[in-house]
Amino acid sequence: MPEAVSRDACIPADTITPDRDITHAHFAPGDQIVVIKGVADGELWGDAMTVVTPSWHTPTEEDGWRLRDPNGGALSFITGHPRYLVHLSKRCPDCLIYQRALADYLLPKVGGTKPVDVGWYSITDRNQLVHDADKGNAR
Ligand SMILES: [Zn+2]
Repeated sequence: MPEAVSRDACIPADTITPDRDITHAHFAPGDQIVVIKGVADGELWGDAMTVVTPSWHTPTEEDGWRLRDPNGGALSFITGHPRYLVHLSKRCPDCLIYQRALADYLLPKVGGTKPVDVGWYSITDRNQLVHDADKGNAR
């Protein structure tokens, strides 16, 4: 599989997402969510998706969610872990706390006006969205 993202040496590893404490039941089918993928114009940037149905997340061997990415093309349906997801559809304190922590951590480190993909996520050949920190668990 080609490495789509060229990673800048100055881009930090994500220390926030792996420690996030969020339950599977925090999300429900129909929720609009975003997976934070980087920084653009001084703000967090990500892929907006819809939560579809519960789905086993094989990289972590935990309950995940099947997500629909309207711009995903061949990868319109992928499975993600709950801690990767941030609510868009409602003002959610739990998700806002995570988003703010990520912004405080990342924005000072990634400057400039060009959009930057920090490359923390990849998609397995089984359409599983996996964070760098979860890659060691299963192949
Ligand atoms: Zn939330």
